[in-house]
Amino acid sequence: MEIRVTDDCDGYGRCADLAPEVFSVPEEPDYQTTVLRPTIDEEAEEELAARAIAAIQQCPKRALVTDLDVRF
Ligand code: SF4
Repeated sequence: MEIRVTDDCDGYGRCADLAPEVFSVPEEPDYQTTVLRPTIDEEAEEELAARAIAAIQQCPKRALVTDLDVRF
């Protein structure tokens, strides 16, 4: 799966709480999250992919975009 963040991110870091290996929220002054793992093999890294998907689903700004068909 591919993941990227859009400019809608508010930087509060729910995604990094769920999957710190995938998302990093900088302290300041730039509050936009960085996607540390823009590509995850959802078969080989099933548990990590599940947490990344949960983060995408729970992002309050819908700022995380993926090529997977994720339900909200
Ligand atoms: S949960 Fe969404 S809005 Fe919040 S820091 Fe992560 S990408 Fe940004």
